[in-house]
Amino acid sequence: MLSLAEKLPPSRLAQMRDGWWRKRTYLYVTPGEVLVERALAGFPEDVRALARRCRVIRTDARGGGGFYPDRNEVELAAGVETYEGLRQVELSCCHELFHYICWNDERYRADEDQGFPYLRRAVFASRALLDGFPRYRAWVTGSFLRQGDHANPVEYFADIPTNFRDTAELPPPIRAHFAPLIDGAALPYDLARRPDWKIDPRSLELVVFQRWLAGRD
Ligand SMILES: [Zn+2]
Repeated sequence: MLSLAEKLPPSRLAQMRDGWWRKRTYLYVTPGEVLVERALAGFPEDVRALARRCRVIRTDARGGGGFYPDRNEVELAAGVETYEGLRQVELSCCHELFHYICWNDERYRADEDQGFPYLRRAVFASRALLDGFPRYRAWVTGSFLRQGDHANPVEYFADIPTNFRDTAELPPPIRAHFAPLIDGAALPYDLARRPDWKIDPRSLELVVFQRWLAGRD
């Protein structure tokens, strides 16, 4: 029924959703375990195996969700399928699961614990390369950076695998950093090593990260 409803003209679909919400109806709620499989279809087997350990709790709400590191669990509103769409629920779940993966994959957790020096370096090294990767450039400037304070390294980490299933669309330094999670390529460096390059403390500010993402110095 939901997939049929999604084929209706947008105004008609919005009307139906209004009617459902008046009765607090969720037409279809994918169970967490099933949703993990659908959200990560096509990702490398080791990534999927790790994500299967994550509990995805469907909460009684129309929209919203998040990863809770203290509980190591994902919450996702039961209304996402009905009120945002069947495709959207997979993307939202994928995003939250990559927060879980950043926190639970030993390699990437080591980078996060150090303040993301390797991720920042990949973004820095990609500044001058954006023109060669138009879909990435359009996404980063037209969508990601529009989120203000939310456009931080943690959110960037979860968004790259969610939005780029083909690593050829990413500038090479960013591709190298994320490819193990997307197509199973090996990481070219050890994220647990202390950086052997100089890091200016001012470069750790969010505005600098955002400036580098936008392709500026
Ligand atoms: Zn997030």
